[in-house]
Amino acid sequence: MDPNCIFCKIVKGEIPSKKVYEDDEMLAFHDIHPLAPVHFMLIPRKHIASLAEATPEDAGVLGRMMAIAGRLAREQGSTEGFRTIVNTGRIGRQDVYHLHIHIIGGPNPLPRMI
Ligand code: ADP
Repeated sequence: MDPNCIFCKIVKGEIPSKKVYEDDEMLAFHDIHPLAPVHFMLIPRKHIASLAEATPEDAGVLGRMMAIAGRLAREQGSTEGFRTIVNTGRIGRQDVYHLHIHIIGGPNPLPRMI
């Protein structure tokens, strides 16, 4: 845990969040500034600053996060697909330095980005 990290504070319940899912190693909650009808964040409880800092030891939880994303997206109403975004570091325009997967979707196709 990083005491100054906003997502660690969400993990600890010190900052409120609209939870989508939680288990013993990850948490999902709605983005405070949604970019689409479905937009939530999936994070490990463990403080990993970014994908650039992830190590082989983190592979298990990161894999399980990817493996549950589809189910959570469907449960949130994104039944025909979604986008997953992991912004990393300055170049990736990461704002919150606690690794998170944006899961973005809804009923309509998203604007093409790449
Ligand atoms: P960017 O802001 O460029 O998307 P990140 O990938 O670091 O950079 O994303 C941080 C995300 O966290 C933003 O989408 C922001 O809206 C969201 N966010 C920040 N604070 C909170 C919060 N307290 N609860 C939920 N989402 C938050």
